[in-house]
Amino acid sequence: MKKIGVLTSGGDSPGMNAAIRAIVRKGISMNIEVYGIYHGYTGLIEGTIRQLDLGSVGDIIHRGGTILRTSRSDAFKTEEGRQAALAQLRKFGIEGLVVIGGDGSSRGAQKLFELGISTVTIPGTIDNDIPGTEMTLGFDTAVNTVIEAIDKIRDTAASHDRISVIEVMGRHSGNIAVWAGLAGGAESIVIPEVDFNIEEITDKLEETNKRGKKHSTIIVAEGVCSGAKVVEMIKERTGLDTRVTVLGHMQRGGSPSATDRLLGSRWGAKAVELLASGEPVGKMLGLRANRLVANGFDLLHSEKPAVNLELYELSNSISI
Ligand code: ADP
Repeated sequence: MKKIGVLTSGGDSPGMNAAIRAIVRKGISMNIEVYGIYHGYTGLIEGTIRQLDLGSVGDIIHRGGTILRTSRSDAFKTEEGRQAALAQLRKFGIEGLVVIGGDGSSRGAQKLFELGISTVTIPGTIDNDIPGTEMTLGFDTAVNTVIEAIDKIRDTAASHDRISVIEVMGRHSGNIAVWAGLAGGAESIVIPEVDFNIEEITDKLEETNKRGKKHSTIIVAEGVCSGAKVVEMIKERTGLDTRVTVLGHMQRGGSPSATDRLLGSRWGAKAVELLASGEPVGKMLGLRANRLVANGFDLLHSEKPAVNLELYELSNSISI
């Protein structure tokens, strides 16, 4: 294989730049030309494609976001759009593609593979919800960002004897809420995978309040309901001084953690190695027991990986 392309698609996540850097540098070291496709599948359809050299990925390993930009493309979901993308790949002579993105982007990648383009995906999302991998690129950084916020909010909540409700990302997945909630010492965690029971939360608050513990932290995954709604319910039932913080998009940004830089670098190099074999390849990279694995796209259509309920239970049992 002489020419490969790389694009980032869907929600961005810290570590994407580390992966792009590894793809470019590994490719060039193997005498493969690497092309950056800008703005995800939109750029693939429109031909916003430029060759990347060694210098083009300098000074990016520590930066969040993606230098290639990203997008969501409805056009790519149509046969016509994908044919236009295929025509661009032919025009540039690109024989293989690395797609960095979440499960939607991987579904798109599968469609390209079915059209005869060798495609390898890197699981780039802060949600940690991709089948076939224990970890996704950006999740570790996002959890660390949330913990930092929890710590800061705790300082001021403790000074004012307040209850803090912190709304975190996770429309369908409670991963960020559970990992950050446990690591941040939250009293209660509300996630889409477990029935929401406000009485349980308020009973616990009243009990701990009586015991003399005047401040508590409650983490709410956005997919359940808004943090503001939870504040309303707590105030109504307990009358306790309760405030909400919505962390929002700050969870997707920031300098990637060591874990995400390492993962991005390892997955990036591995993707190039797989494409370089010259055989038709359609794989989703993942991590199992800290080893890189390459799964088939069929896994995408199996169930989403479940949130780690053991961590959720552990948090419940020690946050009393
Ligand atoms: P993420 O990759 O972060 O999960 P999305 O679900 O928004 O983000 O997907 C990103 C893009 O991938 C979509 O805008 C679309 O262009 C493409 N995509 C998603 N699902 C499909 C699909 N079933 N077929 C083709 N392309 C898809």
